Order: sequence, then structure tokens, then C-alpha cells
Amino acid sequence: MKPKLVIGNWKMNKTFEEADDLIIEISDLLEGLTLQTGVVLCPPNLYLELTTDHAEENEFSAGAQNCCEFSNGAYTGEISAEMLAAIGVEFCILGHSERRKYFHESNQSIAGKVNQLLTHGLIPVVCCGEQLEDRKNGTHFNVVEKQITESVFHLTKDQFETIVIAYEPVWAIGTGETATPAQAEEMHVFIRQLIEKKYGTEIAYNAYILYGGSCNAGNALELFAQPNVDGGLIGGASLKAKEFFDIIEAAETVLKDN
Ligand code: PEP
Repeated sequence: MKPKLVIGNWKMNKTFEEADDLIIEISDLLEGLTLQTGVVLCPPNLYLELTTDHAEENEFSAGAQNCCEFSNGAYTGEISAEMLAAIGVEFCILGHSERRKYFHESNQSIAGKVNQLLTHGLIPVVCCGEQLEDRKNGTHFNVVEKQITESVFHLTKDQFETIVIAYEPVWAIGTGETATPAQAEEMHVFIRQLIEKKYGTEIAYNAYILYGGSCNAGNALELFAQPNVDGGLIGGASLKAKEFFDIIEAAETVLKDN
């Protein structure tokens, strides 16, 4: 089993002081540990430099929650991939279902953002996932296939190797309703097969496919134990240092047991 990756998506939460406190609490919990699991904190943009400063002396990396699909210029309110790279941000979440829903992001704009991030050496964490109706009417595999095909399958093999996919069923995000480990595994296997068809067995095997959707300290162990779940994208539970730490510990436990 390859090392896991656990990413915290803070969304639009925390004041500056609260963000600083949370980073310090997480740093204290991780201090002195040699982790196999990769840990990434994705705070609001305003706190990214604070996070990269702390990341220099700690066992985690900093990630953004979005970036602009254009390189620079007259795009009021946007943040470019180049700006993120310049302050040491290493990851960036793209195409989160909340951005698709409230900011009308399309697979095509996500593809543009992926290109920007890769140009500047950041790792895109590209989200996909079906709505509840899609699952009810049995089109969930088609929905996820279209999202992945249109947002990342334009990449070359070398480029694809550097990205992360996050499967986040929309009905499980922030709802307390988690996909069962079997449902998560089934979709992760499907995604890996898509990658295999497009880029071959080795790249598919090495691809990181994270699960997101009400993952917490109570269910992380079982989810991460699935052979095709390479870690988690954690929303609400990443806002509490101890719970986030317990999720990281679950990833470490699964690795030790395999
Ligand atoms: C998310 O926002 O990516 C997410 C998975 O949220 P939650 O864990 O709160 O469901």
C-alpha cells in the first residue's frame, strides 16, 4: 500500500487568530512524529502565507482552495497559480462541488486551472462526484467519468502523474452522511480503471484517489483501509485539531497494518 494523503479543506472558516491557533495546535500534535502520511492544510487564501511559514518547520504542506484559470491581468478578485507558487503553496483544490454549485465552475474552466497550476509546479487536487439524484437513477459512474474526462484527460502522461483526484459524492459533503466504504471503493476502482484505459497500468496504480464527504475520526480507518482509497479530503473534521490528527493517525494505522 502506498503512503496516504490527508488534506484539510477549511472552506470559508476561521478568523486570522483562530487560523493561527489551529495551525499551532496541529503543529504541536504532529511535532516529533515521523509520518508516512502526507498532510496538507488548505485555509482561506488570506492565511496561506501564515500556513506556508508554519509549513517550513512542520510536517505539513499548504494548499489553496481554488485559483484562477487565467495567468494574470485584469481579473478582479482572482488569485493566480503563479502567486500561490511564489509564497510556497504546493497544492490547490479544484472543482470542489461548492465551487461548481455557487460559482458555476465547469469542467472546462477546471481544465484551465489545472493547466495553470501545472505550469507553476503546483499539485492540483481535482474534485469529482455525483449528486444524490445521479446515484438514485444509476448515472453516477457516467457523471464522474465526464467530469474526469473533461477536466484532466487532456494532460500528458507526465502531467497526469503529478495530479491528485478527490472523489466527493455531493450528497455526502457536509451532510454527516458518508459513502459506505464499499461505495467509496467501488467508485475508486472505477476511476482507477478509467485512468488505466487512458494512461496505462503503472500510472493508474500510482494515482492518488482521495475520498471526501463527511469523513471523520470515527469512519476514517474503515474508509482508508479500502485498497483503492489513498487518503481523504476532509472538510468539517479538519477544523478541529484533535479530530484532524485522529484522521491522520487512522491513515498511519492502515499503513502499518498493510
Ligand atoms: C469537503 O468539503 O471537501 C468535504 C469533504 O466536507 P465534509 O468533510 O465536511 O463533508
